[in-house]
Amino acid sequence: MGLSQVVGRLIGVREHVVDPGGGGAPRVPRPVTALVVGGGIAGMSAAVVLAERGVEVTVLEAAPHLGGRLGAWPEELPDGVQRNEHGFHAFFRQYWNWRSILRRVDPALGFLKPIPGYPILSAQWPTEEFGKLPPAPPANLLALLLRSPSLRLADLRSMDRDAALPLLTYDAVRTYAEFDERTADELLSSLRLPDRARAMLFEVFSHSFFNHEAEMSAAEMIAQFHFYLLGNPEGLAFDCPDEDYATAIWEPLTRHVEKHGGRVLTGAAAARLDRTPEGWRVAGADGDVWEAAHVVLAVDPPALAALVDASPGLAVAAPELVARMPAFGRPGPPYAVARYWMDGDVRPERAVFSGVSRQPTLDSVTLYHRLESEPRRWAERTGGSVLELHAYACEPDVPADELAARMLRELTTLWPEVADLRVRELRARVEAQAPAFTPGSHAGRPGVRTDAPGLYLAGDGIRTEFPSALMERSAATGIIAANHILRAEGAAAEPVRSIRPRGLLARR
Ligand SMILES: Cc1cc2nc3c(=O)[nH]c(=O)nc-3n(C[C@H](O)[C@H](O)[C@H](O)COP(=O)(O)OP(=O)(O)OC[C@H]3O[C@@H](n4cnc5c(N)ncnc54)[C@H](O)[C@@H]3O)c2cc1C
Repeated sequence: MGLSQVVGRLIGVREHVVDPGGGGAPRVPRPVTALVVGGGIAGMSAAVVLAERGVEVTVLEAAPHLGGRLGAWPEELPDGVQRNEHGFHAFFRQYWNWRSILRRVDPALGFLKPIPGYPILSAQWPTEEFGKLPPAPPANLLALLLRSPSLRLADLRSMDRDAALPLLTYDAVRTYAEFDERTADELLSSLRLPDRARAMLFEVFSHSFFNHEAEMSAAEMIAQFHFYLLGNPEGLAFDCPDEDYATAIWEPLTRHVEKHGGRVLTGAAAARLDRTPEGWRVAGADGDVWEAAHVVLAVDPPALAALVDASPGLAVAAPELVARMPAFGRPGPPYAVARYWMDGDVRPERAVFSGVSRQPTLDSVTLYHRLESEPRRWAERTGGSVLELHAYACEPDVPADELAARMLRELTTLWPEVADLRVRELRARVEAQAPAFTPGSHAGRPGVRTDAPGLYLAGDGIRTEFPSALMERSAATGIIAANHILRAEGAAAEPVRSIRPRGLLARR
């Protein structure tokens, strides 16, 4: 533990035990069945915990491959098959629940390699470096203020410090009560930050949540500042797999679930859910039927709303869940991912991952040929490079190829050498599956428990009573769903951890 973490600990920046787990038999005392719909992080986290405790669990995944938004699949290129992925992911170090699932297949997490640095690129201002701050508050805040060219002491005097206080006083109940109706944009404007600090430090951060500031709840942004920066003892540095996600994560996790007696079915879409006297029946899109005592719906928000809509029996079995779906099922804005196989490389000093500030489309750049082994080998063989460009919250109704072309043009203004590279292959997608965190949405956000016995929800849009986001929220809600089933059946639950759910200056 470094000095900043020791100091942080003394003032309360530390791990928080949400659920100590335990409390029952190591395995369920009698046969228990469970179905998990969705084979992304949330569903597979639930399945891992259930299978280990002896529950007969079956995962139904609609796609031909596991992983959902962290999926990876073989892509035919003219010179051979390469794995493509749903998009680059940063595995932050306070993702303790997700990491505990991953430790099942690699106890030392050796496949996760630290990413050196995390620059923010801008056409207007010099690069800002995020990832090299001391990990814990208050040292990270002080370093940010002292080192950041975007925030001078004179700027702090012009800032509205009262308006900034909510960032330091996060409270899992009060923050939502006071700020959920306001937008992140209003909150940022009220800080009266210099434009450069706003662009380089705050906007890049809020974009990473797949929502526009003008349509995102201010409370949610305060919660995410707390989770990633102001209450996080592990810091903003992160790690990434050195193999594609199928090889590093999904294939080993599938073997783990199967070793414990579970089943993982791909190409198995759930089309309808019905209550039965013994539990639940799930009808598949191609006529298959599965039955179980418990069901975890671990699908993305639009898929959950569609499944609930196609299950008329839920109007009686789970009326509250049904009522929450119209608002919950509307996803955030579309996001775009474009992977480029190029005929040459960018300059050697370019970082593996860079955030981008204030470009109309482009939000991040990843150099896959300096990250994962297969693209690395491809680049060595061909003298080329593999780039991935992301836009986290883009304009609706723009085709993927057009977004990809815009992102590449914008990258050229930041890295001029890109203009000299020829695109050998491009795979571009635009999707809308991320949860929306619109102002006022917190009260209606469904939690893991539904109003129907034996029916649970998991995923990154599902409400938690402690700080969590993105991949970590998916894993945490998956584990919590499994814990509800295990406790109901008399088996020991799994521990759940988060950061302390109270800001540095929050009242008790
Ligand atoms: C481009 C991109 C970059 C990202 N970067 C980061 C990052 O750096 N750090 C981070 O923490 N998070 C990041 N995220 C967010 C992260 O990917 C998600 O939070 C997480 O993967 C969500 O997992 P999930 O299991 O909740 O949902 P999903 O991954 O959406 O899984 C749901 C699964 O359910 C399946 N399904 C849907 N309907 C049905 C049905 N009817 N029957 C059966 N199966 C069904 C889907 O096929 C899917 O596999 C990123 C996301 C994207 C898109």
